[in-house]
Amino acid sequence: SKILGGNNYKFFTSCMSRSLEERVNLERDLHSALKNDELVLHYQPQIDSQTGHVFGAEALIRWEHPKRGLIPPNQFIPIAEETGLIIPIGEWVLRMACMQAEEWNRKYDHPVHIAVNLSIKQFVNNDIVKTVERTLHETGLDPEILELELTESIFLENTESMISTLNKLQKLGVRISIDDFGTGYSSLSYLKDLPIDSIKIDQSFIRDLCENKKTASIISAIITLAKNLDLKSVAEGVETPEQFNYFKMEGCDLVQGYYFSRPLPANQIEALLDRTEWG
Ligand code: C2E
Ligand code: CA
Ligand code: CA
Ligand code: CA
Repeated sequence: SKILGGNNYKFFTSCMSRSLEERVNLERDLHSALKNDELVLHYQPQIDSQTGHVFGAEALIRWEHPKRGLIPPNQFIPIAEETGLIIPIGEWVLRMACMQAEEWNRKYDHPVHIAVNLSIKQFVNNDIVKTVERTLHETGLDPEILELELTESIFLENTESMISTLNKLQKLGVRISIDDFGTGYSSLSYLKDLPIDSIKIDQSFIRDLCENKKTASIISAIITLAKNLDLKSVAEGVETPEQFNYFKMEGCDLVQGYYFSRPLPANQIEALLDRTEWG
């Protein structure tokens, strides 16, 4: 037809091949990123809403690409998952984060907890329990300092082996957190069966808080649910003093977001670890 003419078709295929080429290049570079020391962890503080003290930090990976500059995780974690590179990368993240946390816990008088994101591939493809156990042993980190963040979608699997893995991790003494809570369209029944310690309310709820009255009800309900189940509640993506006050009033345990700090390199976040006043 005239509408989908030859030019459009050429344009379409050239876009396709460019993004495919892009993806192939990224994948090739990602293979050497680890050994070339191009991966770094940034840390974002999590604040106890009631005391104003720093509870700990979440480790977030970045890729310092020699030609492209800083690449955010959303652009390479999916590639790492598809290629299996997430296994060595994930082990590296865990080791670096535990080493850093151990250093901070020796340095400061108060505990500095560390939250590490785990991908579902790390959970099913690999002996994650052995990896966590070995990493704790090698870094000397107190297991109670470590929290593993798993996205809610993982809990939908609800298979025997997943339940057994979670139970083994809990026996090691580490904490389990459900990331992006409320986005998985899941039944809530897993909350009573699985060894979970905290839930992170998804950022989309926080963003929507001002515009939609119903969102406030959902957030309240999640915080109440967490309290009744003896789980810690965490709000992430907190960007304004109003949002901070809201979660403080609602009794959400921890808050995290740009209002307090963007994720920063370890040496820059240290200035915040002793801070007790916000806003
Ligand atoms: P996530 O675990 O939900 O992490 C929260 C994301 O929100 C981070 O993006 C963080 O920088 C961003 N963020 C924090 N506060 C605010 C705020 O106030 N406003 C806004 N708009 N955003 C905020 P980031 O670092 O780009 O990470 C994106 C995702 O990549 C993470 O989402 C996580 O799923 C994944 N990821 C990051 N590091 C790792 C890792 O080491 N391993 C695995 N498997 N996934 C990781
Ligand atoms: Ca200490
Ligand atoms: Ca997370
Ligand atoms: Ca999240």
